[in-house]
Amino acid sequence: MSKYFSEKFSGIAPYVPGEQPKNKLIKLNTNESPFPPSPLAMRLARQAVGNLQLYSDPNNTSLKAAAAEVWGIEPNQILFTNGSDEGLNFAVAAYCDSKTKAVFADVTYGFYPVFCNYNRVPYVEIPLKEDFTIDVDAFCKEEGTVLLANPNAQTGVYLPLAEVEKIVASNPNRVVVIDEAYIDFAEESAVKLLPKYENLLVVGTFSKSRSLAGARLGYVIGAPALLADINALIFCTNPFNVNPMTEAAGVGALLDTTYFQGNCEKIKENRAYLTRELERLGFTTLPSAANFVLTRHPEIEGAKLYAQLKEKGILVRHFAMPRISAYIRITIGSKEELTTLVEELEKLL
Ligand SMILES: *Cc1c(COP(=O)(O)O)cnc(C)c1O
Repeated sequence: MSKYFSEKFSGIAPYVPGEQPKNKLIKLNTNESPFPPSPLAMRLARQAVGNLQLYSDPNNTSLKAAAAEVWGIEPNQILFTNGSDEGLNFAVAAYCDSKTKAVFADVTYGFYPVFCNYNRVPYVEIPLKEDFTIDVDAFCKEEGTVLLANPNAQTGVYLPLAEVEKIVASNPNRVVVIDEAYIDFAEESAVKLLPKYENLLVVGTFSKSRSLAGARLGYVIGAPALLADINALIFCTNPFNVNPMTEAAGVGALLDTTYFQGNCEKIKENRAYLTRELERLGFTTLPSAANFVLTRHPEIEGAKLYAQLKEKGILVRHFAMPRISAYIRITIGSKEELTTLVEELEKLL
């Protein structure tokens, strides 16, 4: 850092994204989709290129209309962000301060503490239970703004909606943010709870199930009053946070429901295949409702397995964190990618 860097950022620890290698590797490390964007998304994005001399629509009218149609919500119950990370950061900025801390699990999305440090707000981490499920009672008791990834990041474990509701209902005087980055590979979305709770925000992304990680498109669904808070912060920083190509691609990805559902089904099938094969090879895998699995082998440490697979051209993710350092996280890729992975694992063992 330079000597000019503001003191308010001294000691800041930025998020470390998974590797994005340029050479040919089987890439199972950052939970992207193995499938290309929907053909409709690509066609609409190409058309939008011709209008790039204009600023984007700061209200994302076409995206809101498409989302309202496909998800059965009102256009004023959703707003769009530059990836869901932007929405999460604004939620921390909007609903946390020196008196209202953020509350999240000890094993979850690594960006949460980064957002807290960036916004200079305190946070508490609630340990997952021994079986890596969310400690719902502890979340209900703890005061502060809740950030809950469901299915949870790194573990893939899904918390049933009735349990999520307990946390939302436990304290109407605080905001509960449910991060549903992986919900399309799981069961019910917390969007269902919206009519009952004015303190609920549901954040989602087009990066995983809709094959648009590079386009940067996320959304926040909630009561219009909460969305007005987030929107104010968007308009304090960048009202044009969703560019026209991304808006068009997002509309295509939403309207092409057949393509979307087909891909989600394939990921779930491939997840079942990989889980079975891992079990056959002696791995212990957490029950995943996401497009990745967290798994470990009794004989090889996570860090070693990661390094050995990388040598074979297969990239997975390893987290040097106390509770999950024995594990590796494997993104659910295409059937071909997973077959190659299983063959390599068989050789390694
Ligand atoms: C991938 C991910 C996101 C962020 O996705 P964007 O690409 O910023 O939309 C948010 N939360 C969790 C838990 C994720 O895994």
